[in-house]
Amino acid sequence: EMPLISVKNLKKYFNMSQSKEMIRAVDGISFDIYEGETFGLVGESGCGKSTTGKLILRLLNPTDGEVLLNGDNILKYNRKKFRKLRKDLQIVFQNSSSVLDPKMFAYDILVEPLILHKIVPRYELNEEVDRLLDMVGLPKSSKRKLPNEFSGGQKQRLIIARALATRPKFIICDEPVSSLDVSIQSQILNLLVKFQNEYSLTYLFIAHSLNVVRHISNRVGVMYLGKIVEIGSNKEIFKSPTHPYTKALISAFPNLEEKKFNEEKLILKGEVPSPINIPTGCSFHTRCPYSYGKCKKEEPELMEITKGHYVSCFLIEKNL
Ligand code: SF4
Ligand code: MG
Repeated sequence: EMPLISVKNLKKYFNMSQSKEMIRAVDGISFDIYEGETFGLVGESGCGKSTTGKLILRLLNPTDGEVLLNGDNILKYNRKKFRKLRKDLQIVFQNSSSVLDPKMFAYDILVEPLILHKIVPRYELNEEVDRLLDMVGLPKSSKRKLPNEFSGGQKQRLIIARALATRPKFIICDEPVSSLDVSIQSQILNLLVKFQNEYSLTYLFIAHSLNVVRHISNRVGVMYLGKIVEIGSNKEIFKSPTHPYTKALISAFPNLEEKKFNEEKLILKGEVPSPINIPTGCSFHTRCPYSYGKCKKEEPELMEITKGHYVSCFLIEKNL
């Protein structure tokens, strides 16, 4: 089966303006996303998750790598060709004040993509806006409201309605619920699941919250300092995490119902190192309780340990 999206050796390095130093925000990652699934991307903040999302949608120019959509490298498309495609690929950002123009009425926020991508004829715009608001559970009267007149949850519904306006196939959800109360979080997640089923959507779901990712993802990629250290099914990642970093994340995760799976408690020491000064070898070696000689010098590759379960850690070779 061909993946819908295939990310190959994607890199994004930022030059620091004041020095010759380089930030390796995304450092050669590869993963596939299959049609109809939710691929979760987790890791502590600053590990490159959001940058990855932006690179896939060309909101940032990659330093290297490919993003294939149905086998076609969309990073090679010219502007015009990409703009056409853009209606199929959407992004839902965290509900923050910068996402919605505070001076635009909800009506205009929703009408903008409809006009830009010629989704419906002009005389149907009003009806289509009503339909979109209804889909996300907002009253028609919301049309005449400004973003700051909505609650956090309502704002996120509006952002989702705007993403759905172009009838996309693929949506990147970047921390879509992280600024919301837990009760509102589940409403929004349920809404995303409902739309996924109704419109056969494919999601890349980016979040630092393991709880949220576990709730919504079919497969999960774990990122650390710009690299993917483990990829597996929801069950593999949450019930038999294999990379020491994944194990540590899961151990720190206060999930009481499944304590028995977390027998091997692994506590993460210290902070994530700065992406300007990424440790040599396995970049996790400064925090890894299992680190040994080789780890400081050589970099482990992502290896498939069982079908579809990938891990980058030298311990895997040791155990084979
Ligand atoms: Fe730890 Fe070494 Fe594995 Fe890296 S390669 S996760 S330092 S044991
Ligand atoms: Mg982020």
